[in-house]
Amino acid sequence: PLLSKFVVVCAVSGGGLVAYADANSSNGVLARAPPPETVSKKKKVVVLGTGWAGTSFLKKLNDPSYDVQVISPRNYFAFTPLLPSVTVGTVEARSIVEPIRNIVRKKKMDVCFSEGECFKIDAENKKVYCRSNEYNNLNGKKEFVVEYDYLVIAMGARPNTFNTPGVEEHCNFLKEVEDAQKIRRNVIDNFEKASLPGLTEEERKRILHFVVVGGGPTGVEFAAELHDFVNEDLVKLYPAAKDFVKITLLEAADHILNMFDKRITEFAEEKFKRDGIDVKLGSMVVGVSDKEISTKVRGNGEIASVPYGMVVWSTGIGTRPVVRDFMKQIGQNNRRALATDEWLRVEGCNNVYALGDCATINQRKVMEDISAIFKKADKDNSGTLTVKEFQEVIKDISQRYPQVELYLKNKKMSNIVDLLKAAKGDVAKESIELNIEEFKTALSEVDSQMKNLPATAQVASQQGAYLAKCFNRMEEAEKNPEGPIRFRGEGRHRFQPFRYRHLGQFAPLGGEQTAAQLPGDWVSIGHSSQWLWYSVYASKLVSWRTRALVITDWTRRFIFGRDSSGI
Ligand code: FAD
Repeated sequence: PLLSKFVVVCAVSGGGLVAYADANSSNGVLARAPPPETVSKKKKVVVLGTGWAGTSFLKKLNDPSYDVQVISPRNYFAFTPLLPSVTVGTVEARSIVEPIRNIVRKKKMDVCFSEGECFKIDAENKKVYCRSNEYNNLNGKKEFVVEYDYLVIAMGARPNTFNTPGVEEHCNFLKEVEDAQKIRRNVIDNFEKASLPGLTEEERKRILHFVVVGGGPTGVEFAAELHDFVNEDLVKLYPAAKDFVKITLLEAADHILNMFDKRITEFAEEKFKRDGIDVKLGSMVVGVSDKEISTKVRGNGEIASVPYGMVVWSTGIGTRPVVRDFMKQIGQNNRRALATDEWLRVEGCNNVYALGDCATINQRKVMEDISAIFKKADKDNSGTLTVKEFQEVIKDISQRYPQVELYLKNKKMSNIVDLLKAAKGDVAKESIELNIEEFKTALSEVDSQMKNLPATAQVASQQGAYLAKCFNRMEEAEKNPEGPIRFRGEGRHRFQPFRYRHLGQFAPLGGEQTAAQLPGDWVSIGHSSQWLWYSVYASKLVSWRTRALVITDWTRRFIFGRDSSGI
């Protein structure tokens, strides 16, 4: 009798899944309870998020024995590396998004999508509580509960403001498609505002002062795109504004593009100087009001305030509130992201996985394995390692953990001399040997780099694909709990742990020039890398439809320039 009061609220995609609303429920929450005849024996997999991690998981999952429900506040996948291009109309927003239903309808398995956001995860009772975005159902209720057997958390992150006063209220962010569209409108609006009659020169200068906070890849790419837009398109349409426009890039550290090779950093800083982009290093933003941005200069601690017309805040990512609450619930306090093991299982709960920007792998650190590593490298059992043996250790670790390799390269430590100096003081390279204590000291630097993989689309999509592969083999693994013979000796888990493969990274710098840092310490900067960038990104787009749209946009821009109508 209770079931008769239920109302269908969820569209079925791929067949099989139906969600019901309890019309009498007093707390306004919809229960997902199919009538007995349709109760599925299939294991329910709930995926939270349709970003890089969630979509890659969905695309690779192909075992029809699962009943999959995807929940996300946006019903599309967005190709984030092209978001900076959307801010100035080099590429249209529609060209970089793919409806998630387009992706799931091709799957030969039960997949249901619900547009809504999860606001609470109850791992003990295996339920997630969600709120629909747009519509109320017939009874005016917007919330629903979904039960799961396996939960895949791929909710990404939100911009990190470091609680700086005024940032939420006055700054633009560049995280979602809507953000990019808003920036595009605001840039044009500011040019129109500055062209109004009756303004003082000071006022025009303020309105056309664009400030970018954060010298990471996103901030740098946006500054470069904005510079090109202004110089290639807007100055033709707003000739009077030309003398008033200024772009400032604020970075708290000593250099921009810190995670890149030094050659790229230097090239980018010099290019921006030539282009007239004012890069202020060692400048930490301490507050933003409606017309002024205040910075503290590292070193002398001086506070300076400058008038601005528009600020774009791009200083990295922070934790979503729902993820933070969940972390508290499972005893993972004081972290930025959900800690998982190397199989992407959330530590402290069962059958919950986390991937992408909302997760961090608690890797077995070098220091924990110190004796084993030492013993393995000490081939002649002398109790000491030669430089050559130590070099082998570093090579092995770097191959397994690309973030360590990158770190060492950036610090110019590839010849390990610096590491050895850290352990033994100033020593001649060939002559030294390390005992276990010195070995530990030398590795402690490397160990600190083991914790976090970079928060990139590359990591997220590789994790999604890895997890889908594990799920596809789950049944087989459960039937053979010992695992395939080749793993039995190791015996830690039925699947191999996740291993990230770093494929390189790009930093577009404007003027049809891009910096590329590819595996094997291969660095290329200039016009040829720009063509590589075009090819790689065109090939990585999620569908032929988006690929065609983006290539058309690029061609349109080459022929007609960017559109500056501000709609
Ligand atoms: P996201 O892709 O952010 O997806 C999160 C998903 O969760 C979204 O669908 C969101 O709607 C959904 N969600 C949010 N809240 C909830 C909720 N409460 N309940 C359910 N679902 C929820 N990386 C690169 O490797 N190369 C690049 O060139 C690059 N360029 C970038 C440029 C920009 C402007 C930005 C912002 C990022 C860029 N990145 C790049 C980083 C990359 O986009 C992220 O690392 C990647 O998106 C992380 O994937 P994700 O799936 O974890 O999160």
